[in-house]
Amino acid sequence: METRKEKIACPYCQHEQEFESYVNIDLDVEPELKAKIMSDELFTFECEECGKKALMAFPCLVSNMELKYMYWLIANFDDEQKKALDDDLKESMKSDNDKKFAGGYRRRITGTINELKEKILIADEGLDDRVMEVLKILCINEVSDQLQSTQLSEVRFNKKEDGGMCLVLVFLDREPALIDITLDMYHKVEKMFGHDIEEKTPKEGFAEIDPYWANEVLNDSIVLVNKTDEE
Ligand SMILES: [Zn+2]
Repeated sequence: METRKEKIACPYCQHEQEFESYVNIDLDVEPELKAKIMSDELFTFECEECGKKALMAFPCLVSNMELKYMYWLIANFDDEQKKALDDDLKESMKSDNDKKFAGGYRRRITGTINELKEKILIADEGLDDRVMEVLKILCINEVSDQLQSTQLSEVRFNKKEDGGMCLVLVFLDREPALIDITLDMYHKVEKMFGHDIEEKTPKEGFAEIDPYWANEVLNDSIVLVNKTDEE
């Protein structure tokens, strides 16, 4: 575990205090940190002065050897930051042994705490985040008529209390809504788009697997379907 301490100003009262954040979170060594990520505790800054709390999406790498993932959290990252991470990874994979080691990993870059948490949960469920992103777009398209006058801000995979799976639709202008999903739906998407998903996954570096990526997968598949129709 590697941590850093820095002075941070409270976003409410500007009071400055020390905040300890993590650079690397190795869940094999410290599995207890997972719960702290999932509850936001790890990212919570609590002001000693005014008592208010704020979330701090500090940059960190969360890795899990058992589930084979490396997830970077970099809030609002730009191309330059992403390239630096990719270069670091390339550098660290120069030995053949490391190449083998990191090659089979799910390497992602996430821009928000919620995205990071979702990817951890998806891996815990033994699911593929790429299939899930495509499934999300298809589900949202199904209900697009009902969403016309709403401001949908994000769609996140989650588990329900009864163990079932769902998508949580988070709106800017109303309460969240749930769409139930099933493993059957998931496997259908995997079967239909598995090839395109593989094609569209960057072979090197950290990938951004998000709605934009999933839309590209779907658009390309549709182009192909149309081409086959015309022939
Ligand atoms: Zn404060």
